[in-house]
Parts: sequence; C-alpha cells; structure tokens
Amino acid sequence: MKKYQMYIGGKWEDPASGEWFETLNPYTAEPWALIPRGNAEDAARAVQAAHRAMHVGPWPKLNATQRGALMRKLGDLIAANAERLAEIEVKDNGKLISEMRGQLNYIPQWYYYFGGLADKIQGSVIPIDKPNMFTYTKHEPMGVVVGIIPWNSPLMLVAWKLAPALAAGNTLVLKPSEFTSASLLEMMSLVEEAGFPPGVINVVTGLGNEVGPALVEHPQVAKVAFTGSDATGQKIYEGAARGLKRVSLELGGKSPNIVFDDANLDNAVNGAIAGIFAAVGQACIAGSRMLVQESVHDAFVEKLLKAASTIKMGDPMRDDTQVGPVANLPQFDKVLAYMEIARKDGAHLALGGDRARRPECGKGLFVEPTVFTGVRNNMRIAQEEVFGPILSVIPFRDEEDAIEIGNDILFGLAAGVWTQNMQRAHVMADRLKAGMVWVNTYRMVSYMAPFGGYKRSGLGRENGIEAINEYMQPKTVWMSS
Ligand code: NAD
Repeated sequence: MKKYQMYIGGKWEDPASGEWFETLNPYTAEPWALIPRGNAEDAARAVQAAHRAMHVGPWPKLNATQRGALMRKLGDLIAANAERLAEIEVKDNGKLISEMRGQLNYIPQWYYYFGGLADKIQGSVIPIDKPNMFTYTKHEPMGVVVGIIPWNSPLMLVAWKLAPALAAGNTLVLKPSEFTSASLLEMMSLVEEAGFPPGVINVVTGLGNEVGPALVEHPQVAKVAFTGSDATGQKIYEGAARGLKRVSLELGGKSPNIVFDDANLDNAVNGAIAGIFAAVGQACIAGSRMLVQESVHDAFVEKLLKAASTIKMGDPMRDDTQVGPVANLPQFDKVLAYMEIARKDGAHLALGGDRARRPECGKGLFVEPTVFTGVRNNMRIAQEEVFGPILSVIPFRDEEDAIEIGNDILFGLAAGVWTQNMQRAHVMADRLKAGMVWVNTYRMVSYMAPFGGYKRSGLGRENGIEAINEYMQPKTVWMSS
C-alpha cells in the first residue's frame, strides 16, 4: 500500500506522531494508501517554514513577473500530469474519470490567469487635499495563508486559493481533508519540479480537529481561506477571531433550481439532472431544491423520473459511467439517514431511496439517484444540506411564490432559473438572494467569474480579478516634500 509523507519546508517528512491512517477507495470499499496523521507539532513546523519563506529570500526577492512565471510552470506541469492526478482522485474520492479529465484540463487556467495577474497589481496616486504631500497606495501580501480544503474536489478547490494567494506574494500551508489527501500530496512533487522555493507551499495532512485549530490559531498565520461545511466554517471563524485574522469562507448550500411553465422542459430536466446527480450531489452548488411551477409540475416530474431512472452507475474509471460512489463512509451513512428523515417528514419517494444494489456497483458506496416529490420547504430535507444524490421537488404557484420559497433558506450560494421570458429572468436574478444565479443553465463556474455565497454560504469571493483582494492588504504612504 502506498505510504505518503507530508511536504514541509521543501522536504518530504514523516508525521511527528509516527502514525498514518488508511484512506479508502469508495468504489472497492478497500483502503489503498496510508496518509500521515499530522498533529499540532507538524502544523507549527509548516507555519514556521512558510513564515521563513515569506520573510527570508528567495521568495520575497522574486519580482511579480518571476512569481507569475513559476505559477504558469506549475499550470503546465499539472496539464502534463493530468491523467495521473485524475486517476488519484478517482481512486481516493470515487470521482468519475470523465469528470476528472475535464477538471484537470481546466485547473491549469487558474495558475495561468492569476499568474498573469501577478505583475498587474497596481496601487494609485491620490490627488490629496493637503499641500506639499505625495500620497500613494500599494498592495502587500498578507503573509502566511492557511488553506483548508474539503474532500469533494481537492485539486480544483485548492487552485481557487493557491493561485490568487501566490500571485499576491503570500506563502501557504495547505490542509486537505483526511478523506482525500493523496492528490494534493502528489501535486507537491510538481510544485517542487516547478522550482518554488522551499516553504512557499506546504501540505500538512491529518484529522481536521487535530491539525485544523493548530493552523488557524497559530500566531504567525495572517489569513485563513476555508472551503467546507458551515459548521466547521463557524469554528474556524471563531478560532481566527481570537487572533483577529482575516478569513474567507466558502461554505454549504441548498440551492433552488426553479422551473417556470414557459421553460423548455427538456432543457430544464437536463439542468436538474446535472444540478443534483453530477458528482453524486457532492457539490456545494448542487441544485437540491427543485422548485416547479404547479401548471407544469406533473409533466416535468414525469420527464425527470424517466431521465433519472436511466442513469448509469458503476466503475468510475469507465467513460460511460454517469454516477459514481459516494466519496466516504460517514457521507454514505449521512445520505442514507436523510432518506429516512424525508420519509418520516411526509415527503413522497418517487425514485431511488436506498443504497444501490446493482451488480455493477459491487461493494462500493453507491446510493440510487433519489427524487422526493410533495416536499414542503420547511421539511428538513428541503432545509439541510445533504451533499448527496437526493432531489426534493417543491411546487410553486407564481413568481412571487418562487422567490419567497427560493429565499426561505439559511444558505445563499447559488440558484437556477428556467424560463424563456427574459424580463422574468432579470427579475429573478435581481431578487434571489444567492451569490450566483444561472438562467437556462446550471453549474457554470470559471476562473474569471466571482464565486461565493450570501448568508450562511460564506464570506468573501473566490475566482475573478477581485479574488486577489482577499490575499492582499493596501498600504497608504504619505510623503511630505
Ligand atoms: P468539513 O467542514 O467537514 O471539512 C472541511 C475541511 O475542514 C477538512 O479539511 C477538514 O479536515 C477540516 N476541518 C475539520 N474540522 C476542523 C476544525 N475544527 N478546524 C479546522 N479545520 C477543520 O467539510 P467536508 O465534509 O470536507 O466538505 C463538504 C462541505 O464543503 C459541504 O458543506 C460543502 O457544501 C462545502 N463546500 C463548499 C464549497 C464552496 O465553494 N462554497 C465547495 C465545496 C464544498
């Protein structure tokens, strides 16, 4: 079984605990690798390495163009190693090889885009209201940034933090999820090959509650960038508050996907299926609440069930598999528990509702694509993030009703709207309380477009030019002549 080491200060290191834990392949339900069980001592060592790299050369002596060139090199190396990295996430996470090839083809763009921005960060001269005074601003890096990553898309979500943080001149300690640490550790050999100085990028693995607080609360850490659940996000926010640190949080969602009676229903069905069953529903932006106008409810549900019942499950390495296994055992148990919760609360099970016992699913952690109809928005299945392949169909009367139900939720990450009436589309885009609104499409994400949530879905934005502001601090200089 492959035994990994952590990457700290440019060296491959064993954990201080001397312990490793197994990581599971959710398709075979067998362990396939050993991950170092890092602890607070390792966390402190990694932060010190990042702090040294931040303040002692060569990193702070590189100019922004040189930093950008290193980032572009890393992008090239990720592209050149795409197949190998894709296969690791398939093995560790149950991701489909087809999805991972698509992701790995796209991830280098984050390093190219933000690498290109590195030498375009500019301050300004202020035409100040005082005599004989020259006043200007510049932007400086925050210092040591901690990036904490969830299990659902490690290489993609790390790019969203690493690329803008490096472009702004920071150094980082990354902490992947205990369920999916392997791909990030593998990526560190590319960081080494690209020629990043030791300590600029470090990876500490281990259990969230053992390593996480030690990183968040370390006095030499200036900023924490987190993606994960709202419950952990709250803990991190509290820990960071004790040191008055900057924080950005990308948290959960319970996004409405809203179909009006004037929509192209076939397109809306495809959007509904992609919205909830792609990545087994393990996406923060999953369209888990399907709001359907009463007048087309039955027609839509009939088409939806027909399409969902043909979904192919099985070996995630096969090109024709459409839904793979749930990524880990606790998540598998959680998804199945929500089937019971929904039934007890009175939702009507229209499809699925159990673990998948199809022969092609073997011993893997598969759950049948599931649709509940007759869901009311106050049921737990409509209010709580399941992070699994469960779609709740909720009928609505008219535009006002759709807006009220759509916004009646603690989260505010994303929303979908299906209509051919562009006036209505604009009204919905204005009035839905969500960080992203998709009209006649779903799940669109780009390195160029800001991504983040309203309400309990987070703080700050990733992607797009503004993302770099999350990793810089402005300085104002006053000079008397
Ligand atoms: P999680 O909150 O359980 O864990 C996320 C990370 O936090 C892991 O690396 C974990 O080890 C670490 N962690 C756990 N306890 C910690 C602590 N006390 N201090 C510091 N770190 C700690 O989330 P998960 O189950 O890995 O991921 C699923 C969640 O992520 C879902 O809620 C999903 O919506 C969210 N998510 C959000 C986005 C987004 O961009 N908004 C994207 C993907 C996933």
